[in-house]
Amino acid sequence: MSLVLVVEDESAIAELIAINLRHAGFEVELALDAEAAQRAIDRVLPDLVLLDWMLPGGQSGVQLARRWRGESRTRELPVIMLTARAEESDKITGLDAGADDYLTKPFSPKELMARIRAVLRRKAPEALDAAVEVLGLRLDPATRRVTRRMGEALCELKLGPTEFRLLHFLMTHPERVHSRAQLLDRVWGDHVFIEERTVDVHVKRLREALAPAQCSALIETVRGAGYRLTQQLGAVQA
Ligand code: CA
Repeated sequence: MSLVLVVEDESAIAELIAINLRHAGFEVELALDAEAAQRAIDRVLPDLVLLDWMLPGGQSGVQLARRWRGESRTRELPVIMLTARAEESDKITGLDAGADDYLTKPFSPKELMARIRAVLRRKAPEALDAAVEVLGLRLDPATRRVTRRMGEALCELKLGPTEFRLLHFLMTHPERVHSRAQLLDRVWGDHVFIEERTVDVHVKRLREALAPAQCSALIETVRGAGYRLTQQLGAVQA
């Protein structure tokens, strides 16, 4: 399930957002100020952050967004800024700080959900339920099925839940090399308490699970760097 961190000090707005997100199938974590938001991010990297501009205490939402953009672990984190300000200059400040989108209060829950989906489609497609296909291998998050058509036959693969999430992430970010730490963050949702060699164990299991469809070679080991899902035709047998 995809996790959205809502950073908002007005509890009525935070609750309204949370209800709509949960209704749409997202898991929600709430933070009332910048410090709580940073603690949440340090613990588990969410799929997306809704970030209020005006927060109590020393740090604004814009400062937080800027800090996240400056750090490698959070550089790609999808962020939508929420604010009561409607002036054009504020909007530009927010986008300059690295926000992916910008929503002015009051907003309709419907518009919020549409913006969230648009940002996720662009930056974190693994957080959505759309089916993905690479070289004939098809993964459907809605039905949780992984299949590959081989001639006349449809080969259905059996994957454990972790291998399924790992394959989903790799298929939605093909050709890029992911370090073990990045995979722990994005697939396990936790980079602190799990050893990096856990990733190797699950990659091995994933390759074994892909073997009946002759797709094991899709998952490449990049020495000293991590893992990559290749889209090169030579990786699979027809
Ligand atoms: Ca506020």
